[in-house]
Amino acid sequence: MFRIKRDDLVEVRKGRERGKRGKDRQLLPDKERATLTDVNILKKHVKPGTRVRQAGIIDFEVPIRLANLALVCDKCGKPTRVGFRFLDDGSKARFCKICGELT
Ligand SMILES: [Zn+2]
Repeated sequence: MFRIKRDDLVEVRKGRERGKRGKDRQLLPDKERATLTDVNILKKHVKPGTRVRQAGIIDFEVPIRLANLALVCDKCGKPTRVGFRFLDDGSKARFCKICGELT
């Protein structure tokens, strides 16, 4: 089970994009990376071809290592570490290590 799920708000903790926040748009578990909306944008010059109709510059989001990301708690709004605990019904739930709320 990964600490970060799709559509989570996460903050970059290391590297060029440190401090930026974005939504987890795509999780790449086998690469241990995630793509965030509007973070770590690389501009790529493209020529028209089979995949793109028009030449120009396209922006795309470069996946960031999960180790460099922190979940932003939706309860306290801080980038946090998460823990897991079992609920009464036996299911596993994530919680914020700062405020203790389930997230
Ligand atoms: Zn919290």
